[in-house]
Order: sequence, then C-alpha cells, then structure tokens
Amino acid sequence: MDQLVKALVLDNTDGKQQASIKELRKSDFPEGEVDVQILYSSLNYKDGLAITGKGKIVRSFPFVPGIDFVGVVEDSRSPRYKKGDKVILTGWGVGERYWGGYSQFARVKAEWLVPLPESLSPEWAMSIGTAGLTAILSVLALEKHGVQPNGREVVVTGASGGVGSMAVAILAKRGYKVVASTGRTETHDYLRSLGASDIIDRQVLASPGKPLESERWGGAIDTVGGTTLAGVLRSTAYGGSVAACGLAGGNELPTTVFPFILRGVNLLGIDSVNSPFEMRQEVWKLAAELPAEIYEQVTRIVPLQALFSLSEEILKGQVRGRIVVDVNA
Ligand code: NDP
Repeated sequence: MDQLVKALVLDNTDGKQQASIKELRKSDFPEGEVDVQILYSSLNYKDGLAITGKGKIVRSFPFVPGIDFVGVVEDSRSPRYKKGDKVILTGWGVGERYWGGYSQFARVKAEWLVPLPESLSPEWAMSIGTAGLTAILSVLALEKHGVQPNGREVVVTGASGGVGSMAVAILAKRGYKVVASTGRTETHDYLRSLGASDIIDRQVLASPGKPLESERWGGAIDTVGGTTLAGVLRSTAYGGSVAACGLAGGNELPTTVFPFILRGVNLLGIDSVNSPFEMRQEVWKLAAELPAEIYEQVTRIVPLQALFSLSEEILKGQVRGRIVVDVNA
C-alpha cells in the first residue's frame, strides 16, 4: 500500500524557494536500500541554511531537508539491516543532495546508517546528532595531538550553539578546564551549568591583535571561523592544537604563519559529513557513555512546524543548545 507520510518539503517556483509541510506518498521517495520510519531529526546550522534558502545547500526540488535522523528499519534490501533495527544517520550529503530527516520516512543507502547503541534513547541520539558527533570528533582530534585534561585551558567558541554546547559539556565531563566563548550574556549560567569554568566575550577573540599574543589555550574547538579562529590561534600556547569545525562567523581565516612556525600550533580540520563508518561507530560508542544530564541541559524537542522560525533563528545565532525535531508530533 502506498502510504502517506508527513514531511517538510522545499519547492522552488520561479527561482524562489518555499518550505511547507506536505503529505508525500512513499512511492515519491527516491530509491534506496533501506526504508526507515523516522522518529526524530534535529536542527543544525546547515539545516537553517537549507530551509531558508540562504545558503546554496539544496539544488534540486522538490526536496526534503534534514541532515540527520534516528529511526526504525521498516524494510531492507541490504543484508546489513533488518526490519525493526534502530539506526542513526548523519552526513553523507543527506539533507543536502539526498532527501533527509524532516519527514516521517526516508529511503537511504545501507552504508550511510549506523546502528543505534542500545543504551542511547532515540531522543538522546538526536540531541547528540551531527553537532555532538562533530564535538566528539573534535575532542578526539585534540587528544590525538596531545591535549590533556591536566594541561592548560581549552576554549570553545560559539559555545552556546549546538556544537559548542556539546563540546563544552563533553570536555568538562572529561575533566578539562573549559573556557566558553560567547556573545550572549544570557547564556552564561547555562554554560557554567554545562561545566565551563570561565567565560570569555566573543569580541575579545574576534578583535584585531598582534600576530602572537600571550599563550593561554592548550587546545580549542572553534565553530565560528573568521577573525575568531585567528584570535584563538594567536593565543594558543606552544604545541597546542585547534580543531576547526565551523564557520558561523565567516569562512575566511585572516591569520599569519607565526602560531604554526614559532609555537608549533596544530590546526586540525574536522569533517563529520564523510567520516568513515568505523570512526562513526567509535564516536557513537563514546556518545552512549555521555551522562544523560547533558541531554536534559541542552535539549529542546519541537514539532516540524517550529522549523520555519527556528531555521531563521539558528542563522542569527539565537538558538541555544540542541533542537530535537519530533517528526511525528
Ligand atoms: P549554532 O547556530 O547552533 O551555533 C553557532 C554559534 O556560533 C552561535 O550559537 C553563536 O554562539 C556563535 N555565532 C553565531 N554567529 C556568530 C558570528 N557572526 N560571530 C561570532 N559567533 C557567532 O550552529 P551549530 O552548532 O549547528 O554549527 C556551528 C558551526 O559548525 C556551523 O558553522 C556549522 O556549519 C558547523 N558544523 C560543521 C560540521 C563539520 O562536520 N565540520 C558539522 C556540524 C556543524 P554564541 O551566541 O555563544 O556566541
């Protein structure tokens, strides 16, 4: 039977993109190996760009955005999954080139899926979502390059956002002294509750400075880019490492080579979209060990309709923590 499912759909008429909630037939969905009944998706910065049409994220219409989801396998043409398996999907161009998670249903490639660890609830998995995966990848990259909890402070930029909140909480739980960089005074208590030991106004990092400034950071997770990342690099201590994962403040990097050639600073690129299956499994295993109190502190659950306004808000840097989308609400 060709069942109807609810989805947030992007259409393009005369070059103008519109988003609306529609009913689609399962036969409308592109081909794939695994049919998934979606339980939850989440809102990420890239989803904000896709829904509003402000970034050139989506190029073919009609289109279902949503770069991550968790759900239950309904039908599988792949030996990797069977009906009833709980699965997570993040990245691989889903929600950008391939129909994504803002729907009650998806049809995807088996290799894009990761089994949901038993100890993670579907809501918690999407609270972590792409943002948490990116935060964990960033922490692992720093640790691989020698950053340790007993060393100098680690700064997180864009700290009140999705990736930033998860990074602050995860670092604090691992015993790091975390400094949260934020432009919002109203999130200071929230950031301290996640474990930040100090807070720095984002203007301090983003303001112009000398090519090198006093050494402060043993490590950094930067979700902002631009002059903020340049500011972080200038005050990263000798041998320190900076994980660059975002561009919420700009895609340029107005820096000099001095942090690299005089202080041996490592600039580590983080990509969650195409990270290999084995790495994802390791990351989701770590995610499953995170204390559930982080979920309670960072998460808000909303229905699909809320995405119309929240997609604008996330681009203005006004969303705090993680938004989980209940596609069946
Ligand atoms: P959010 O909007 O939730 O967080 C971004 C935060 O950055 C905001 O909350 C705000 O924090 C700060 N910010 C926003 N605008 C500016 C600005 N103009 N100047 C300085 N700071 C600003 O987004 P996400 O956490 O979902 O994503 C963060 C970034 O990470 C995005 O650029 C996203 O594309 C990228 N990303 C990359 C991934 C990867 O694989 N590399 C995966 C996921 C995300 P505050 O108010 O505290 O200052």
